[in-house]
Amino acid sequence: MSITEEGLREELFATTLEMGRSGLNVGTSGNASVRWGTGLLITPSGIAASACTPADMVELDSGGSATGTLAPSSEWQLHRDIYAACPGAGAILHAHSPFATALACQRRHIPAFHYMIARFGGTDVRCAPYATFGTQALSDAAVAALVDRSACLLANHGMVVFGRDLAHALAQAIEFETLCEQYWRTLQLGDPVLLSAAEMTEVIERFRWYGRPRDGSAS
Ligand code: 13P
Ligand code: ZN
Repeated sequence: MSITEEGLREELFATTLEMGRSGLNVGTSGNASVRWGTGLLITPSGIAASACTPADMVELDSGGSATGTLAPSSEWQLHRDIYAACPGAGAILHAHSPFATALACQRRHIPAFHYMIARFGGTDVRCAPYATFGTQALSDAAVAALVDRSACLLANHGMVVFGRDLAHALAQAIEFETLCEQYWRTLQLGDPVLLSAAEMTEVIERFRWYGRPRDGSAS
């Protein structure tokens, strides 16, 4: 069944409400988008999800030109550029979630303190250098931090996570915030013991089939 623009608007709106309910975002912090044709649908700027409707989601073409009266999220360049750089990105969420933001304010990257880090593409999650919100400089920094990864921190700001669709991006964002909390708690006890490159390579390999339907062989 092919999805309509109306259906996608509703799904994007529902996702932003869920970002609030799950504690990822408060008020007008954060934003979300979904790929639509050669462009995207994105949340409007400066309006809390609870005050929006699906019709308020803003359509942008691949060049960044908006349709409608509401201004697109101030981070529209970041969303547009991630879709261009990451073919696997079908939906993108940006949040000022508490634990990711705490680590981002320390400008820390997240090392392989837990095997679930591999869910985001590699052996760590990077922290992009600081740049002012809503700028091309911030977009450039995030795109560089996302090479071979599906999540990054933004220094003194928050996190960006993408997924193949909105449901996947939301699940990944919640999982990433949980990992950030676990890392933060671990740091209270001192420096964690990190997994080795070989151990993480094995985990990354296992994630290639983890959660997929059985092929008949058990291991
Ligand atoms: P917008 O309301 O423009 O999406 O801005 C929120 C934000 O988090 C900026 O980084
Ligand atoms: Zn932000």
